[in-house]
Amino acid sequence: MSNYPELKMLIGGSAITGDGRDTIEVKNPANGETLAALPSASTADLDQALENAEKGFHEWRKTSADKREAILRKAAGLLKERAGDIAEALTYEQGKPLAEAKGETMYSAMLLEFYAGECKRIYGRTLVRPEGARAEVQYHPVGPVAGFSAWNFPVLNVMRKIGGALAAGCSTIVKPSEETPAAGIALVQALLDAGVPGDVVQCVFGVPDEVSRHLLASPIIRKVTFTGSTEVGKHLSKLAAEDLKITTMELGGHAPVLVFEDADLDKTLDTMVANKYRNAGQVCVSPTRFLIEENIFEKFRDGFVERAKAVKVGNGWEDGTQMGPMASERGPDGVASKIADAKDKGANLALGGERIGNLGNFFEPSVLTEVPTDAEIMNEEPFGPVAILNPMKGEDAMIEEANRLPYGLAAYAWTNDVARRRRLAAEVEAGMLAINTGGVSAADAPFGGVKWSGHGSEDGREGVMACMVPKTIHEG
Ligand code: NAD
Repeated sequence: MSNYPELKMLIGGSAITGDGRDTIEVKNPANGETLAALPSASTADLDQALENAEKGFHEWRKTSADKREAILRKAAGLLKERAGDIAEALTYEQGKPLAEAKGETMYSAMLLEFYAGECKRIYGRTLVRPEGARAEVQYHPVGPVAGFSAWNFPVLNVMRKIGGALAAGCSTIVKPSEETPAAGIALVQALLDAGVPGDVVQCVFGVPDEVSRHLLASPIIRKVTFTGSTEVGKHLSKLAAEDLKITTMELGGHAPVLVFEDADLDKTLDTMVANKYRNAGQVCVSPTRFLIEENIFEKFRDGFVERAKAVKVGNGWEDGTQMGPMASERGPDGVASKIADAKDKGANLALGGERIGNLGNFFEPSVLTEVPTDAEIMNEEPFGPVAILNPMKGEDAMIEEANRLPYGLAAYAWTNDVARRRRLAAEVEAGMLAINTGGVSAADAPFGGVKWSGHGSEDGREGVMACMVPKTIHEG
């Protein structure tokens, strides 16, 4: 079947395949066909990985910053060299267009280069003390890190779990999603091939709740980092609290987009429609609640629908495909049920709303308008190719609606009023606010949320510091 790679775990630098272990089927979301069988870790495998991680930590934390940097840079180079193959595996297992899969892989390599550079930028500070006395703050790697990531960005999410930890000097055991394992395996393999010791970066799979419970029950693991739903994030935070492990939680969002009458409408629409349907809307920072000043609402709606209609949906392998299938069978059913609930509560369906065909998990680019606040989709992240467009009466009401939900990951605003931009920067509750742009992510910028969207940051220097703990040295 295709050139989808054989799947394996990587424990202590060794490839672990079936050998009588339980396996999990990996499916192609474009046609439902089975791609491969993924080996599941036994309890003994997980215990071995933990023992290795402890050994690996003591080795890696003492490896010089120069050497860590060189190895991570080499791994970034390997990722770039292998980007074509990794992107193919990613499209098979996740469904996104091949060009997007390649872009994700190249972005992950660029992020790894940034983290490589950060190895040498971990600074402490000296405190002011009377002559003869001295005090300094040092930063030390926290210890072995367990990372659990989601299927929507099979390489990038895993990169974000690993990059900060390795730059800080931590060892890491990562569990990519069982639904999209090959791209994460390829990333870990590139790190091993570049010279990261086999006990320092390891990759396991299994029943998610069983693997995380086992790893988190061990005192060896000192930090937990997770990308996924708020519900699972809360569950893992509780498990981590039992042993006071530190956590980074990158959870769901429900991003508001505030569109003011003074915005450049064509630029807003061109940027945000492409952004909305990227990865079939399965993006934690996907724009979801469009809050539009009422006097431009109709023009905005018509421009949005026209552009959304033109989005080319198809198999990620076909040239020109802009939106592939949803990544799992849960996707189309979930979106269809939220759209039905919104219509029952009085919303208008301006575009789409249906599954496409019987093969694979394809869903139409969809637009709902005038959606009442009590509709499910106004309160729960849609995580699919559906936009909500609502007319709003002015800035205060728009900010109030933007902040109404317990989520606060990304928010977007389109306005040419400079004073308003400052007010929005102060008032909108979000980890990232993009004004007159669709971009909320950059290697040097912290990425993370507030409230139920989680805590802690990935990327930027904050992504490394999140894997470190301060130690103050007082000298008399
Ligand atoms: P989920 O939280 O159940 O799963 C996300 C990932 O976490 C999966 O890869 C899964 O294997 C893993 N996971 C689940 N339970 C786990 C556990 N106990 N221990 C360790 N790992 C575990 O989410 P889902 O059902 O795939 O999607 C549901 C919703 O989650 C989406 O609609 C969306 O709101 C949110 N989500 C957010 C992101 C994000 O980027 N923040 C990514 C995926 C899903």
